Amino acid sequence: MTIPVAPNSDLGQLTSKIRIIAREQGFDDMRVTDCDLSESAPRLQEWLDKGYAGDMDYIGNRFEMKIDPDKLVSGVKRIISLRMNYFQFRNESMDGFNFINAPDKGFISSYALGRDYHKVIRGRLEKVAQNVQSIIGAFGYRVFTDSAPVMEVELATKSGLGWRGKHTLLINKNAGSWFFLGEIYTDLDLPLDSPASEHCGTCSRCIDICPTKAILGPYKLDARRCISYLTIEHRGSIPKEFRKLLGNRIYGCDDCQVVCPWNKYASVTTVPDFNVRESLDGETLVKLFSWSESEFYRYTEGSPIRRIGYERWLRNLACALGNAPTSPEIIRSLELRKSYESELVREHVAWALDEHL
Ligand code: SF4
Ligand code: SF4
Repeated sequence: MTIPVAPNSDLGQLTSKIRIIAREQGFDDMRVTDCDLSESAPRLQEWLDKGYAGDMDYIGNRFEMKIDPDKLVSGVKRIISLRMNYFQFRNESMDGFNFINAPDKGFISSYALGRDYHKVIRGRLEKVAQNVQSIIGAFGYRVFTDSAPVMEVELATKSGLGWRGKHTLLINKNAGSWFFLGEIYTDLDLPLDSPASEHCGTCSRCIDICPTKAILGPYKLDARRCISYLTIEHRGSIPKEFRKLLGNRIYGCDDCQVVCPWNKYASVTTVPDFNVRESLDGETLVKLFSWSESEFYRYTEGSPIRRIGYERWLRNLACALGNAPTSPEIIRSLELRKSYESELVREHVAWALDEHL
């Protein structure tokens, strides 16, 4: 990384300019923090030691880089933390808790209904940095979003973008929690912002609503129990104790965010990439389960859903079909996959058929 140019420039003014540039790129807020994560490191270590990360080995990997940003990007002085709203109104049957009344339809977490945010956010962070370079000349930077060696929520909390809610996600007082985070690690010595105050108070709605009791207590998440983990990150068989609790959630879960009172302040995204794809929202489980492998890859092109692959997609759908109200159509669609080539899928299909006996 290079030493920043323009050492005499007013870094406060530069921060204001970066904020304007970030807004032009669709970011809804931006704050600056330093690289000291010494308070967060023991909490992460304890969480990992308890096994709460499940088989997400990548969280523990490169631990040193995570807790010491300089080990990831040598010479980094500041981290610019940014957020981008993804909230969108969706199919009425899937909106809020209405999806409980549509158990024959597949529920997909809101963040995954548009274009893959990794590409969108990374591209726009890069543009922010390049536009700053066009003003001040070359400076050292690297951009990240949802990247394993970056403690995103901790950095965002330190920067004042919001506070960590009891469900462990970041909440912003004016925007709720339906947003993505991104970071620019930089050697620019920008002035620091202060952390935000916490406003969960005595509320425990997210803890109470969690279908699998994954939020063990305030700020304590056992990812192995979380439906987002089970349907997205987890590669193997879904433990039987959770299958009924998944309901019709086939990719992620939004319950703890839906009930959070701060989300009444959420704003609809201005980024067209996050527009809801009709083919993914409010579609029947039978229809989604009937997709061939090539159809799956066609309909999920550019979507984060692709990341789980066709086999896990069928696994999740088989679970949801096992939980759906019995109908000849559902039985028929499960029967058609009884001899599917993947043992993982066959086992979930057999379980689902048993649920309809
Ligand atoms: S996403 Fe769902 S399963 Fe995971 S903690 Fe939130 S409510 Fe619980
Ligand atoms: S639901 Fe309540 S306790 Fe949970 S994150 Fe929101 S405000 Fe905090």
